Amino acid sequence: MPESVDPRRLKITGDAGTEGTLIGFRCRECGVSVFGPATFCQSCTSFDLEPVDLGRSGTLFSYTVVRIPPAGWPGEVPYILGQVELPSGPQVLAEVIDCQHSDLTIGMPVELAIQAVPAQEGGDDKLVYKWRPA
Ligand SMILES: [Zn+2]
Repeated sequence: MPESVDPRRLKITGDAGTEGTLIGFRCRECGVSVFGPATFCQSCTSFDLEPVDLGRSGTLFSYTVVRIPPAGWPGEVPYILGQVELPSGPQVLAEVIDCQHSDLTIGMPVELAIQAVPAQEGGDDKLVYKWRPA
């Protein structure tokens, strides 16, 4: 059974391994949300954080075409790396799939795509989060 590559950022829902949501924290003092783990609010330094479900959709804020991947990159090259803004504010960097870069426009809606990739250290596949045009 594949598991989330990072359970602090991607929560898998359901048994199929294809459904999930991004998670993070929201500051009870100032309302700012962050993606992934946090111990205090980087905006107001409050420690009063609550875990939140950040959903599975966003808008394309910026993107780049990566021709020289990091070592161990398991996917195709070149690939598109998209910076996506979530409705509650945080930005999430991940590959954009199922499209050509010429299909992309800044501000377009994108949705979360969960894919299983082989674990680098062996063992069960890991579920990673990517974006695709909505
Ligand atoms: Zn705050």
